[in-house]
Amino acid sequence: MSDTLFEVGVEGTPDQPVRRSKDIAGDVLARMDAVLPRAAGPYPLHAPEIDGNAWDYVKDCLDTGWVSSVGAWVDRFEDMLTKITGARHAIATVNGTAALHAALLTVGVQPGDEVLVPSFTFVATANAISYCGAAPHFVDCEDTGLGTDPGALDAYLDTIGEIHGDCLINRETHAIIRAMVPVHCYGNPSNMRALCDIAARHQLTIIEDAAESLGSTLSGTDGATHTGRFGRIGAFSFNGNKTITTGGGGALITDDDLLARRLRHLTTTARVNDGAELVHDMVAYNYRLPNINAALGCAQLETLDTKLAAKRNLSARYKAAFAGAPGVRYLASPPWGETNNWLCGLLFDDPQARDLVLTRLNDAGYQCRPFWTPLHTMKMYADAPRAPLEMTRRLSGCGLTLPSGAGLMGEIKR
Ligand SMILES: *Cc1c(COP(=O)(O)O)cnc(C)c1O
Repeated sequence: MSDTLFEVGVEGTPDQPVRRSKDIAGDVLARMDAVLPRAAGPYPLHAPEIDGNAWDYVKDCLDTGWVSSVGAWVDRFEDMLTKITGARHAIATVNGTAALHAALLTVGVQPGDEVLVPSFTFVATANAISYCGAAPHFVDCEDTGLGTDPGALDAYLDTIGEIHGDCLINRETHAIIRAMVPVHCYGNPSNMRALCDIAARHQLTIIEDAAESLGSTLSGTDGATHTGRFGRIGAFSFNGNKTITTGGGGALITDDDLLARRLRHLTTTARVNDGAELVHDMVAYNYRLPNINAALGCAQLETLDTKLAAKRNLSARYKAAFAGAPGVRYLASPPWGETNNWLCGLLFDDPQARDLVLTRLNDAGYQCRPFWTPLHTMKMYADAPRAPLEMTRRLSGCGLTLPSGAGLMGEIKR
């Protein structure tokens, strides 16, 4: 938190400075104005930047008629993704949710299983688990990278978990806890090295929800490693609000040849031959990314570095502007990695101050959103198993996301 001891929205303890939510809101507004001049607004939360060769590549699909499930742009898009992430294989999908679903099925998540997942994430992460007939088992996060808290998770699994053979069993529900899905929240890398150790200790498979984190890395002695490469499989999203977009789309990455083959099979209706006959060998999914979306994606990936640089620049400006601000902290990269700055965020000491700032910023043309509503509070997940979720509650009441698009400071050429 901030280093000044301001009691927010509380009637004064006489020996401490009292600063009301209103003062904080005024102060935050002035700092925002210094980064993004209010007069030049309004500023959307995150708008897609349709730049570079997008028009040419999409036009190629329209001119040639290769707009659908067959065509060269998908291969090219997958190839570009392997180069950017360093993974051996990339499989493009219709969206990030489908990617997660296919990943969970492929590592053997079955009806009746439980899968550990942060409550503090977008609903798609838990929904993909539900599609498998499994139950999301919610775990708490930490307030540096906003990802799963490794220490809390390890202690919790020691309490509720029991190893039988090569499976982790939940002592209370008797279900197999098959996997965990760390989420790189708002682009901030989760503490994967610590989480991988815990997964190994408790016989858990990791699927990474890297939907928000294209361009985010974890640091290590041998250089930076892209998010999505620590689990067996990583899943990305290229929805319109993400760092790059294919309109709608997603991708899976893995270094495992066999998993890659299975993922491709499962996401392309399990067709077994290339000939004229249509033979399929299992009930599978039509999850392949259409060619026209991949064409847009190729153009978007060509300028990924420009977009990441523009977002880094914006984030550095926010960081400087909010340094020393009373009652609030700007969320910068965690010490173990580099965020892609998908969504920049502020964390307030006090939920009342957050609420007032949210209203004031939105009224002033800065489109902001409160942090995720914890999934365990939603009615479809009311009965889902869960660890203590103190930090999740605090974050969701005290955080907000700021305008974060790559084009906000005018650096992207159309
Ligand atoms: C966007 C997102 C998804 C889902 O991606 P879609 O492409 O919208 O299906 C999954 N998880 C997280 C954390 C996301 O932000």
